[in-house]
Amino acid sequence: MAKDYDVIIVGAGPAGLTAALYTGRAKLNTLVLDRMGPGGQLLNTELIEDYTGFKSITGAEMAQRFEEHAREFGAQLDYGTVTEIWSDRCWRYVRTEEESEPYRARAVIVCSGGEPRKLGAPGEKEFAGRGVSYCAICDGAFYKDEVLAVVGGGDSAVEEATFLTRYASKVYIIHRRDEFRATKLLQQRAFANPKIEVVWDSVVDRVGGTETVGWLEVRNVKTGATGRLDVGGVFIYVGFRPNSELFRDPVKLDPLGFIVTDEKMETSTIGVFAAGDVRSQFVRQITNAVGDATTAAVAVTRMLEAMGDECQETPEELERETEVALQATAEQYP
Ligand code: NAP
Repeated sequence: MAKDYDVIIVGAGPAGLTAALYTGRAKLNTLVLDRMGPGGQLLNTELIEDYTGFKSITGAEMAQRFEEHAREFGAQLDYGTVTEIWSDRCWRYVRTEEESEPYRARAVIVCSGGEPRKLGAPGEKEFAGRGVSYCAICDGAFYKDEVLAVVGGGDSAVEEATFLTRYASKVYIIHRRDEFRATKLLQQRAFANPKIEVVWDSVVDRVGGTETVGWLEVRNVKTGATGRLDVGGVFIYVGFRPNSELFRDPVKLDPLGFIVTDEKMETSTIGVFAAGDVRSQFVRQITNAVGDATTAAVAVTRMLEAMGDECQETPEELERETEVALQATAEQYP
């Protein structure tokens, strides 16, 4: 059995690092696990604008500041790809790909965020990394003076299209409706940009090319007319799929797969909380991710105070519970 913690935080994005800051301040022994370095989606974002107190800050700098702040209060940050979370009366268990034995903590806060949704168009998978991208900040610079397309109409699509005009000679935004859902400010900026052309009411039916992406087959959903758009690359921003498939036992999810919590951010699995983009909620911004995380961390602190010694098992009980947990894991991963 790996070392025990008061709280394990799954994910080191804004929510995870904020939760770690607060549990650290409460002197809880805190481990943060992430399959990549700290920062989460901040690292895929060039500029964060209008986060209270910061008119503008790069995603990388914000990630670094969040990390340093969390570490200052003693949180331990480690690499770990979490594959499974489960719970018994007193303990929560977190299994990672890297460790043969699960980690164990009194509480877990799941801040695992999510991943870009795929379009599902033929050619998308085939050309992934060869002209199909889900991250403008990572790949934009490879497309100097090329014609690009962005698919989607949300904040990400419209914001990243504007970012891509730094490199591209022209950027089409292909959107399936006749209005964006992106915030007005981002829309205004895109509409004012002479390099951006919006292709309204349209979907991508196929991504094609030879070695790399060369064209998109685009269909107008109102008229049914199809045509080819010659592009050197396509950036897909059609939403977000939560990383919520970590629970051994059924956990309450909303119809889109986001984790449902109560007002303390506790999930339907006892002692397991959720915060940030993985949680079912109305808005997904950094500001409310850090708000969720604060609530979760305070709720965990109170829960552990209330639990006190009540959940202190005898050594026999501890051994038995550990055995049960390990056996169940062994059955799951024969
Ligand atoms: P989103 O808001 O869910 O937008 C997804 C877009 O993709 C929508 O325009 C949607 O069209 C379109 N779409 C979905 N499935 C599609 C398909 N199969 N084919 C074509 N188009 C499809 O996702 P997001 O832009 O990634 O944003 C996620 C969250 O992060 C949001 O809450 C957003 O506010 C937040 N965010 C904020 C900022 C910022 O404030 N600067 C930046 C980035 C993200 P419909 O509109 O027709 O549904």
